[in-house]
Amino acid sequence: MAAPLVQLSRTPPTPSDAPVRISPPGARKPGWLKVRAPGGPNYARIKGMMRELGLHTVCEEARCPNIGECWEHKAATFMILGDVCTRNCTYCAVSHGTPKAFDPLEPVRLAEAVERMGLEHVVITSVDRDDLPNGGAEAFAGCIREIRARLPDTSVEVLIPDFKGSERALAIVMDAQPHILNHNLETAERLYRLARPGGRYDRALRLLANARRLSPDGLTKSGIILGMGEEWDEILVCMRDLRRSDVNIITLGQYLRPSDGHLPVARYYTPDEFAELHEIGMRMGFSHVQASPLTRSSYHAWEQARSASSFEGPGAAPDSSSTELRTT
Ligand code: SF4
Repeated sequence: MAAPLVQLSRTPPTPSDAPVRISPPGARKPGWLKVRAPGGPNYARIKGMMRELGLHTVCEEARCPNIGECWEHKAATFMILGDVCTRNCTYCAVSHGTPKAFDPLEPVRLAEAVERMGLEHVVITSVDRDDLPNGGAEAFAGCIREIRARLPDTSVEVLIPDFKGSERALAIVMDAQPHILNHNLETAERLYRLARPGGRYDRALRLLANARRLSPDGLTKSGIILGMGEEWDEILVCMRDLRRSDVNIITLGQYLRPSDGHLPVARYYTPDEFAELHEIGMRMGFSHVQASPLTRSSYHAWEQARSASSFEGPGAAPDSSSTELRTT
């Protein structure tokens, strides 16, 4: 059931309503974004196993800052369908170009890795494969089924591409019944041409709404990266639009520039601002809001799954009418 609209209302200015400031070019990374270098025993073991089984993780390919923490906790996000993307988002560290041939045995190797790691919750994503007929949807379905056959108690979350809007491709994935269907909105509509030229804002929202239609009781999830040039109100509009698509779980994290060749960071948000977004998101009716500078789509995903499943809040028809968009 679609969520009610968020009411837009002008509020009197308060200290936290200060206009969004843009970080000056070359601004140093704030202290709250510093993480320890990875290197624990589980980290080394998992890295070795990925190479042995010929698997890729988005943790490595996207140079995720949480890799030390996640891999020590035996949590990883597998990246299927190769490590070369057919699109070229300007914020993303994954290489782009012509991908290798489709490997039908990848789901088997992935399920083996999940079994060896003893995962209770697994996240699977992929590069965009616009060269394949259904965008690689069959590979997602194959992984879900293979893991379920070996490990019936392991929950599976898939973070899928937009499949260029193909409803058929989405149905192939949904037929395999993932526990969580995730598709990231990533940024405000205004920034799509700059940051995500191969994507479409409306298409992303439509995919999430269609996933809800195909699985009324399933969990859906989406994420936004902050700091690529959006205004505060645009973040709230994204959140409102995701609730309109009846998305259950939302993640909000800080954009970090992977290299000098990528989109510069326009702004670093403070931990307090993330806390404010968490509060707003819960008021809007999301069943779980993960919001912090280092949040990534799959950061603490096992906790998100547990928390959203046991959510007893506003439910399918959240009352978000009291949520206000701050005007800047
Ligand atoms: S947050 Fe996600 S991508 Fe980053 S290390 Fe953890 S599991 Fe991997």
